[in-house]
Amino acid sequence: MTFSDLGLSSALVKAVEEKGYTKPSPIQEKAIPHILKGKDILASAQTGTGKTAGFTLPVLQYLSETKHPKYRPLRALVLTPTRELAAQVHDNVREYSKYVNIKSTVIFGGVNAKPQIATLKNGVDILVATPGRLLDLHDRKALSFKRVEVLILDEADRMLDMGFVRDINKIIRFMPEKRQNLMFSATFSNDIKKLAAGILRNPVSVETAPQNSTAKKVTHKVYKVDKKRKTEFTIKLIKDNNWTQVLVFTRTKHGANKLTEKLIKAGISAAAIHGNKSQGARTKALRNFKDNTIKILVATDIAARGLDIPLLPHVINFELPNVPEDYVHRIGRTGRAGAAGEAISLVCSEEIEYQNEIEKLLKEKLNSTIVAGFEPTDTAPPKRAATQSKGSFGKKTSNASNQKNKPSKNRPSRKKYSKK
Ligand code: AMP
Repeated sequence: MTFSDLGLSSALVKAVEEKGYTKPSPIQEKAIPHILKGKDILASAQTGTGKTAGFTLPVLQYLSETKHPKYRPLRALVLTPTRELAAQVHDNVREYSKYVNIKSTVIFGGVNAKPQIATLKNGVDILVATPGRLLDLHDRKALSFKRVEVLILDEADRMLDMGFVRDINKIIRFMPEKRQNLMFSATFSNDIKKLAAGILRNPVSVETAPQNSTAKKVTHKVYKVDKKRKTEFTIKLIKDNNWTQVLVFTRTKHGANKLTEKLIKAGISAAAIHGNKSQGARTKALRNFKDNTIKILVATDIAARGLDIPLLPHVINFELPNVPEDYVHRIGRTGRAGAAGEAISLVCSEEIEYQNEIEKLLKEKLNSTIVAGFEPTDTAPPKRAATQSKGSFGKKTSNASNQKNKPSKNRPSRKKYSKK
């Protein structure tokens, strides 16, 4: 199977070939033909599967093959949970649209809005945005959603976790009812299913891996270690194994800062990435991590979501997440692109219940080890795990479910604008 076989135009195939891709990934093979037909999609896909090209390429093809008014109204909107993911997706859009006449831009908070407003005024065909700043600019009349034909929700589960459901529904209410909707999510909680039911019309389900399964080729390792000795243990692991590129997850921003300081003190180059860091600091930390200027990136779940860090050999869960799905997200960062990866978790007595919940979700027992000199002595009782994703979807879903019975036609304007 080639990209041309999927029905993509030569201009897009050329751009993809320049990126060095030789054949479509499974998600691309499954999703692209349906998207080209104008169908709604509900796709289960983690980051690292090539999902971005999976939705970007067919949408670019649609946009470039249909006529549009000269002022270039916004016709396709990609919503992402984080600034980093928005920037990353937009980089992809730019690269893939190199040989088609399509204008794109990216919008997120934490930076000056003025240049964003100026770019929007000149017209864009496809926009990648985080919900908060997007609504802010919409309120300021910097853009309109009235001509949107394709809506893409990337990492929808994380958007729910971050409490964006109200913003998403608000944005959707400004859009025409007849449009194509593409939704991507790594996990499928009941909340996600509800959101999907409210937005998608007769969606085609696309799955690349069994539901809630972890990426293949990942070895899970649990080290039982006392809470107060985790920093020391992490330093030992990194030094003894000579690891040069490790992503470490902590549950709190404060924890991320503290651990980063201690690593640096121990002579290990590290940086923290979390919501309290400025956009500049986050971008710099990620860049330095990618080009190996620093060895360790310490991140909170939300900050790390969707980051494209290729071929990551090790992920350390300094603390286990209390939401089991977050474990799946975290380890999605290792063992990618067919390479083997190791997911290491440091588990103290308080986290036993979290481990049990993760094992239930994975349907697999995690291998536990005790290292000599670090035998656990903690007696603190286990904390209860959350059984559902974070966020308060339940009380905010009314808008989504209100849309359930709206007309089911997708993108009928396609014919109207079709080239001869
Ligand atoms: P994504 O899951 O969209 O974040 O993509 C993960 C990585 O895979 C990115 O670095 C892409 O550039 C890369 N990629 C996407 N599609 C392909 C493909 N067909 N072949 C090889 N690499 C790809």
